[in-house]
Amino acid sequence: MGDLFGLNQFLLTLLIFVPVERLFAARPQKIFRRGLLTDLAFLFLNGWLVMVGQIVIVTVAILVNQSILPSAVKQAIDDLPYWVQVPLVIVIGDLGVYWTHRILHVVPAMWHIHAVHHAVEELDWLAAVHQHPLDVMFMKAGSLFPLFALGFSTEAIATYFLVYYWQAYLIHANVRLNYGPLRYVLVSPEFHHWHHSSEIEARDKNFAGIFSFYDLLFGSVYLSKGQKPKTFGVDNPMPTNYLALLAYPFVTWASKHKRDDPSGT
Ligand SMILES: [Zn+2]
Ligand SMILES: [Zn+2]
Repeated sequence: MGDLFGLNQFLLTLLIFVPVERLFAARPQKIFRRGLLTDLAFLFLNGWLVMVGQIVIVTVAILVNQSILPSAVKQAIDDLPYWVQVPLVIVIGDLGVYWTHRILHVVPAMWHIHAVHHAVEELDWLAAVHQHPLDVMFMKAGSLFPLFALGFSTEAIATYFLVYYWQAYLIHANVRLNYGPLRYVLVSPEFHHWHHSSEIEARDKNFAGIFSFYDLLFGSVYLSKGQKPKTFGVDNPMPTNYLALLAYPFVTWASKHKRDDPSGT
C-alpha cells in the first residue's frame, strides 16, 4: 500500500490516525507497539515490488479493452459522467476485492500468502500495510483488471484509489466504530477487526473492503452484538521481520512439497 503514498502522505495519515486512536481506542495499545519497524518496512519497500505487478495487470487490461471489449460497451462507459463512474468503479472494484480476498482464505496454497497479513497481533491503522506483495498484486488484479478492461476513466479509478487507501487505514485503526445499522452496508473498523480475530466463529468471514453487503449477499458476514474481538493473529508461529515474512509463503510451499513427496522427486 506504500505504492501510492510517499513520505508526506504517510506523515499526513499518521497525523490523522495517531490522535484519533488515542481518543477513541477500541483496546488499550501503545503507539510503539510490537512489529512497528516491520510495518514501516512494508510501507516503504512493498510499493516497488507491487508496482511491477501493477504495470503488468494494467497493461493486459488495456489490451483486453482495446482488442476484445465490444465498441458499444466501450462507448457506453465512455459516455458516463465522472460522478456516475465513481460509484460504479467502487462497487465493481470492491466486488473484485471480496472474491480475491475470499480465494486467499479458502485455497490453502493462497492462504500462505495472505497469512502474512493475518500475522498481526496488535491491530492498528499501520497494520493495513502488513501484506505480502503477492497478496497486494492478487487483490489489485481482482479490482483493477476489470476496471481498466471495461475502460473506466483514469480520474474515476484514481478516486477509487484514494477511497480504497483511506478505507484500508480506517478499518484497521484501533478505534471504536461500528456504524450502527449501516454496518451491513459499509465495512466499519469493528467489521474488519472481526475478520482479523483468532476466534473460531469469526474465521473466514467479513471479506469485503468497503461494502459489507457483499458479505451479507454471499453468506460470509460475522458480527457479534455487544462483543469485541479479543485476540488477533493466526494459530501457527509467524516470522516477525520483513524479509522472513516475504520468504514465508515460499518456505511453507517448499516444506509442504517436501512432506508430500518425501522421496524428493
Ligand atoms: Zn483476510
Ligand atoms: Zn486486514
